[in-house]
Amino acid sequence: MERIVIIGAGECGVRAAFALREQGFAGTITLLGDEPSLPYERPPLSKGMDGALKPIRPEAAYAEAGIHHHRGNRVERIDPAAHSVFLPSSESLSYDTLLIATGSRARLFPTMEGCLTLRTDADAAAIFQSVKPGATLGIIGGGFIGLELAAVARGCGADVTVFEAGQRLLARAVPAEVARIVATRHQAESVTIRTGVGVAAATGTTVLLSGGKTQTFDRVVAGVGSVPNTELAKAAGLDTGSGIHVDDNFRTSDPHILAADDCCNFDWRGAGLVGKLEGGAGPGRLCRLCDAGQSQQLQSRAVVLVRPVRPNPAGCMALRSRTGCDREADRRRSVHRLPMRRTGAAAGCGGHWTGQQHRQRHSDIPETHRAGRTA
Ligand SMILES: Cc1cc2nc3c(=O)[nH]c(=O)nc-3n(C[C@H](O)[C@H](O)[C@H](O)COP(=O)(O)OP(=O)(O)OC[C@H]3O[C@@H](n4cnc5c(N)ncnc54)[C@H](O)[C@@H]3O)c2cc1C
Repeated sequence: MERIVIIGAGECGVRAAFALREQGFAGTITLLGDEPSLPYERPPLSKGMDGALKPIRPEAAYAEAGIHHHRGNRVERIDPAAHSVFLPSSESLSYDTLLIATGSRARLFPTMEGCLTLRTDADAAAIFQSVKPGATLGIIGGGFIGLELAAVARGCGADVTVFEAGQRLLARAVPAEVARIVATRHQAESVTIRTGVGVAAATGTTVLLSGGKTQTFDRVVAGVGSVPNTELAKAAGLDTGSGIHVDDNFRTSDPHILAADDCCNFDWRGAGLVGKLEGGAGPGRLCRLCDAGQSQQLQSRAVVLVRPVRPNPAGCMALRSRTGCDREADRRRSVHRLPMRRTGAAAGCGGHWTGQQHRQRHSDIPETHRAGRTA
């Protein structure tokens, strides 16, 4: 029987596992994820969570689909010659096809140790437990995650300051005109926005500006981009750069190993540009995860990975149960929202997309959303 092992139980890994079954794959599917939670959607973490995580699939669905899902299991090593992956217990699992879907992690510069970042459910819980009326929050990075967080925190009554080294917000994600609208909206809600201000160092509660001045907050969060998790692939001898190199069919330099979404990059339209190859990135967009070399089942059909559309207006008025925020008070403050986001890591101020890809992605944003939305 064909054996597929998937490393990483995030959006990509989980959806790939279910897509395989939905496409009729009858072999064994083993999904290994290092996070302890039931796999959840990350985007809601910066938009308000209503106190609950949004599971990608209900818990029972894994068993129903015959997907062997192991939580809290970090894969330590891949042995491509033996077609095996190794867990910390030294237990090994054999595969015919391996999908690496290890995602990315929040970037944190060495001078910023101690700052919080926002990538996981645990990160969100740590941040939002201190977001209360009157609390002060310093956010480093005026990209999507920083601004979404600013909007939610402000909606909860926190006093928020955003530091952006660039001359404007969202410089890697949207045109200047849109960024201006976003900045104005945030400022109208009393978010302090400081553009053109470099941060030399920061801790969990202080920000040292490059000019030498220090500002103190109850919490400091850095939203300065993400770093693809390529270490496993690199150690296994696969071609990697800023991400795991894959072709248009998600194939790595080993024909039995595929990689997709945040952890990988690819030659974009022959232009030599690199970025992540997503398992589906927007309305109606389907990406194919093609044949896996040796797998007859996979060779005979393209496996479709579908990642749902996320209209993601930022600054939702949620996290009430975690933060004690009051829905009515939030409404009265008319919490502000950002333009719809479509590309995830691409949108952060330090994401690993190229500028040209950003422009391409941005052109997908419907006209109605380009000018920003208000609550
Ligand atoms: C706060 C936030 C808001 C976002 N908002 C949006 C948005 O509005 N729109 C949008 O399109 N995108 C958004 N994104 C980005 C989107 O969430 C990612 O693009 C998406 O999660 C990528 O899916 P993935 O499966 O590649 O990676 P991930 O979701 O990161 O999943 C990878 C998983 O692999 C695990 N893993 C890593 N190494 C190992 C190992 N060795 N062994 C086992 N498991 C391992 C990781 O812990 C993780 O659970 C947001 C991201 C964040 C953090």
